[in-house]
Amino acid sequence: DHYQTPDVSKPRYVRVNTLKLDVDSALIELRKQYMVEKDDLVPDLLKLPPKCDLHDHPLVMNGSVFMQGKASSMVAAALDPEPGWEVLDACAAPGNKTVHLAALMRGKGKVIACELNKERIKRLADTVRLSGACNIEVFHSDFLSLDPKDPPYSKVRAILLDPSCSGSGTVAERLDHLLPSHAAGQSANVDETERLTKLAAFQKKALTHALCFPQVERIVYSTCSIHQIENEDVVKSILPLAASHGFRLATPFPQWHRRGLPVLEGCKLMIYPHNIHVCDWLLFGHWYLVCIN
Ligand code: SAM
Repeated sequence: DHYQTPDVSKPRYVRVNTLKLDVDSALIELRKQYMVEKDDLVPDLLKLPPKCDLHDHPLVMNGSVFMQGKASSMVAAALDPEPGWEVLDACAAPGNKTVHLAALMRGKGKVIACELNKERIKRLADTVRLSGACNIEVFHSDFLSLDPKDPPYSKVRAILLDPSCSGSGTVAERLDHLLPSHAAGQSANVDETERLTKLAAFQKKALTHALCFPQVERIVYSTCSIHQIENEDVVKSILPLAASHGFRLATPFPQWHRRGLPVLEGCKLMIYPHNIHVCDWLLFGHWYLVCIN
């Protein structure tokens, strides 16, 4: 009986796909049915009351708006690619952040969307099709096996790295952990530690690889994990290499008050983009921005 039901009544968010519709037109359309306001942090993001179900809404069905949470929407916005740039989305499926990048670039330049999993490639291609973006190249490959010196990557200026992670920062996962069947026994803990160690090893490799692209000047690393081993520890481990390439850590959205653990000297980077509608332990996504001087 100590498993209390948490308050999960949090606002819904939709991101306007500005490749298809402008924000004001989306507001007018959605306000016919809902109380809608612009988000105060992420451009093109709209906030709706809890429990709004927009799955079948025509604007969702035709790709004019994407149902995308605030944390997820903050990632491409933090990378802030310029129209005309070449950008690499290293772990792209199902592609929500890929199409957000394309919208931020106003369809100009190129987004290379790399994805390892064949099944998930289909979902990525569907998302791209729905968005109407013409500047996204879907690429079925292991990001780690891309040769940064190959001509197709020689002009990549920004990399979004949103690798596989434990997912421990998502509501579903957090709720799962509350179930008695998940009450952590000794062996479950050992399994979980092993899983996190493996994920962190991949995350470090991928972030190290991202640093090797010759023209890259901005990298955003994001997870939806609450574990230090997948967040601060990954970033900390690559800092000496990053510094040798001329990178420094940056603080995206300086006005955002929720930051991470104080384990990275002088840098307060991790962001918990949840708000007063969400209990403190329901955390959604964190990221670090690594940015060249
Ligand atoms: N950025 C996506 C979005 O916002 O829609 C979510 C990405 S999901 C957290 C991580 C993805 O990375 C998964 O689809 C997984 O299959 C893919 N992945 C895992 N290892 C990879 C690798 N070595 N190279 C490329 N993609 C990989």
